[in-house]
Formats: sequence, structure tokens, C-alpha cells
Amino acid sequence: MPELPEVETYRRYFEETALGQTVAHLEVEDQRQLTTDFDTLQQALKGAQFTGAHRIGKHFLINLSTSKTLVLHFGMTGDLAYYRDAEDTPRFARIVFHFQNGFRLAFIDSRKFGRVGLAESIEAYRQEKRLGPDALDISLLQLQASLGKRKAPVKSLLLDQKILAGIGNWIADEVLFQAQIFPAKLANQLSSAEFKRLHAAILYVLKTAIEEEANYGNFPKTFLIHARGWDDSALKPAERQVCPQHRTPLNIIKVGGRTTYFCLVCQPQ
Ligand SMILES: [Zn+2]
Repeated sequence: MPELPEVETYRRYFEETALGQTVAHLEVEDQRQLTTDFDTLQQALKGAQFTGAHRIGKHFLINLSTSKTLVLHFGMTGDLAYYRDAEDTPRFARIVFHFQNGFRLAFIDSRKFGRVGLAESIEAYRQEKRLGPDALDISLLQLQASLGKRKAPVKSLLLDQKILAGIGNWIADEVLFQAQIFPAKLANQLSSAEFKRLHAAILYVLKTAIEEEANYGNFPKTFLIHARGWDDSALKPAERQVCPQHRTPLNIIKVGGRTTYFCLVCQPQ
């Protein structure tokens, strides 16, 4: 599933390709993937220029010269491709933006859980979805202020998009492993030193993932993800998974209903 690192990679790709282009028309295979009706969307996009590419968590927002904002949500399998010739149209191109310069941008989505539509503005969308600050932008002080008084497991709060946007299940496990914090520890019991480690780990994990363009196989050997896996539906039995530091078996618990991998040696209770 495209998480913050993938969406940031798409955003950068978009900036290098479709940004600045003017839309000639729009092609939509299945209108159920639109959150704005087709005619309204076509009208808003025709002749509009893509003037900015923003991201809040895994939500991708494109400024239009016509003052509206286009929102792409990548669902389970969303991706982007920029190309010119019809014969290069990727398989599963569900929505295609045709530009006046003859190039095209495809919203690729094999499983069709992705959504495309309009918002009034980035701020209006943020409020409507009640999204907290992007996980890459949150400061240590903000993090401590939002979590410090909460009597809830730190992992559950990290996953709450209203507190900070962009942390999914594998990222939360990786962040807590790197910060050496027990995932079910109550946030109001975290020390200042633990908050510092937590904030540094959020930045470290996300920046590393973005640098590697979300190619998980290339992540450092010290990352939990090689043992844990990133696809929660394909989790392997615990006994085969060992801590990258200690080579001792990982523990699995549920925190807030979510499967959680951790090392009891690195992350004592
Ligand atoms: Zn360990």
C-alpha cells in the first residue's frame, strides 16, 4: 500500500514531469474512482495548469491555476506514469490526464481502491479529513505536546492521522524499534529522552525510506522491516523472525488491534 515514502516519491516524480503542464482533457475508465462527478472534474481541469505538488501524510494534493485543488489518493496499488505516446499507456491506467504539450499522466491502479477528485483548497481538505501535521514536519515540541498527556499506547497515537499524518503500521513498528520504545508503553509515561529518540526515529525512518524511493529491500540491515515485512497480510510466523541486533526471536502483540512486531531486548517493557 502506498504510504508516506511512496507518495513522497510520486510527488517528486510529478514535480519532475507533469508540474507546470496544462490539462487538455481527462480520460476516466471507471467513474466510481472519482470523488467529484466527471463533468465537474473535466470542467475544472480543462485549460488548468498544474502549479504545485503537496503532500500531507499519504494524501497527494495538486494546486490548479484555477484555484481549486486536485486530490489523488493512491489506495492499495496507485502509481503515476508520465509518457507521450498512446502505445506507452501503462496497464491499469485508470485515469489519464492529457496535456496541451502532447504528454500524458496516468493514474495507474490495478485494484481500483484509489480515488481522484477536487477540494476547495489544501487547508479545506486538511480540515475535512482532520489531518494533523505531516509526520516529516512535526517538531519535537509539537509531538511531545500532542502525545505527552495521553494515557494511550504510543503506537496507537502514532497511527492516529489526526495527531500526525503519514505513519502506517510498518512505519510505526520501525520507528519504535529504532527509538527503542516498547510499543504499548503509555505515551504519558514517556521520558523526555524517549520523546527525543521517538522524534529522531520518525525523521530517520521516513527520510531513509524516501532516499531509497521506498525500495524496502535497500533499507539498512539494521531495520526491523527485513524481519517484519511491510505487507501486514503476508506476515510470517514469529519464530522465523529475529531481531537484526540480537538475532533473538521477535515478539508479536496486538496494540490497538494492530499486529505489532518488536524486540523485547531492544524495547523493554
Ligand atoms: Zn533486539
